[in-house]
Amino acid sequence: MSDWTTWQRQANFIAGQWVGADDGAVIDVINPASQEVIGTVPKAGTAETTRAIDAAGAAFPGFAAMALMDRLALLWRLYDALMDHQSALAELLTVEMGKPLAEAMGEIAIGAQYVRWFAEEARRAKGEIVPAGVTGRRILVTRHPVGVVGMITPWNFPSSMLARKLAPALAVGCTVVAKPATATPYSGLAWGALAEEVGFPPGVVNILTGSARAISGAMMARPDLRKITFTGSTGVGKELIRGSAGTVKKISMELGGNAPFLVFDDADLDAAVQGAMTSKYRNMGQTCVCANRFYVQSGIHDAFVARLVEKTAALKVGDGREPGVAQGPMVDMAAVEKIESLLRDAIGKGATVATGGRRHAKGGSFFEPTVLTGATQAMTFAREEIFGPLAPIFMFRTEAEAIAMANDTVFGLAAYAYTSDLSRAFRLNEGLDYGMIGINSGLITTVEAPFGGVKESGIGKEGGSQGLDEYLETKYTCIDGI
Ligand code: NAP
Repeated sequence: MSDWTTWQRQANFIAGQWVGADDGAVIDVINPASQEVIGTVPKAGTAETTRAIDAAGAAFPGFAAMALMDRLALLWRLYDALMDHQSALAELLTVEMGKPLAEAMGEIAIGAQYVRWFAEEARRAKGEIVPAGVTGRRILVTRHPVGVVGMITPWNFPSSMLARKLAPALAVGCTVVAKPATATPYSGLAWGALAEEVGFPPGVVNILTGSARAISGAMMARPDLRKITFTGSTGVGKELIRGSAGTVKKISMELGGNAPFLVFDDADLDAAVQGAMTSKYRNMGQTCVCANRFYVQSGIHDAFVARLVEKTAALKVGDGREPGVAQGPMVDMAAVEKIESLLRDAIGKGATVATGGRRHAKGGSFFEPTVLTGATQAMTFAREEIFGPLAPIFMFRTEAEAIAMANDTVFGLAAYAYTSDLSRAFRLNEGLDYGMIGINSGLITTVEAPFGGVKESGIGKEGGSQGLDEYLETKYTCIDGI
């Protein structure tokens, strides 16, 4: 057992040492529920990142050559450490990010599950011997860790977004330089403290905070940093794709979403409303897979809206550490202003507020969970990610119309649909242009499945067996004259 402050490391973890920025510069970290400064972290830049990459490069050959079972034993210990300190790590996460404590507990637990999953999957990172077309020749296909990996992660899941990258990378023998989001650095730095506690060799895990451009610029400039894995907005992802071209790095990009949530007349209404609540309001609507657009068929529309409004109005808003709170604060005031601007746009184009629609009486960045009816494709949220507790309801009549509207976006991360018709479920599987589809489920993230998007939602997968492939290179060796 430990206290959350035990894990609040106000320093960077480079080459096994806890260090400040070279010039001593720091950044304040704020609790969004109280607006209080809870501490600082170093404002690192190019020089510190260069040293971290050097350390990761130096550690790589030894770590990659470590006996597999010894390396995986480190991951098992990491799993145990996460679960032993789950409460403290969750409280740290809530204090810096705002999500309800129960959700933070879940996030630490799923991070631990990723560690365990990839420790299992790494034992099956098999190659193959392929029949050769000519005599005397053997074709070997083997798989090898890519090398030093740069990781950049967002604030909305400050612990588990790193888990999905660190676990497969470490399991196959890569070494890491990671930069968590500036708004939520402590949950990222905690991975350094955990790695130190369980005995990863110095230099294998390096965690830096500071200027995003300077840190990512230093990563991009280094040819020996062989991979960039990023989770965040599509705009920054595009910059990183361009930046990685200079040294042709392997890339994984988990980018923005604009999830449609389809409710057909034949849906189980209770299940659909429950799925909608989970999908929309988890993390105050700040997840990349949050339902962004609710398309509801005309026959079930009024009943669905009535139930959703009733449940939305009942959500308890407050500090995520208070018992029973289902909605914490938005991460910052910019997030509040974005919701307000989307609301103004929609109301100006004819939408109606069914519940919520304002800043919450608690002040700060608290916002009332909101349901909006009469949404249309002309409204801005039909194209843009809301990233907040705003549920716009669109009405549709036919399945073809619903699929066309659902696909009418540059994004392709997650989509959801509620129906009792099995044939329709298959048509949706084939017709929806998304990387992940939940049929009769509003919560589909799980370690066993490949998480990731298509179109401008990203490149590559996290989780599943596919998540390991992202950290492996395939090598072909031809042995002739046998
Ligand atoms: P963001 O602004 O793109 O930031 C993500 C990370 O990139 C942060 O560490 C940030 O650093 C860094 N960054 C910002 N500008 C950069 C630049 N020019 N070069 C290099 N790095 C830069 O995204 P966010 O607002 O934190 O997160 C929300 C977005 O993430 C949403 O679009 C959401 O859909 C997406 N997301 C996607 C997934 C997925 O799996 N597909 C999962 C979660 C979130 P600073 O914090 O220092 O600015």
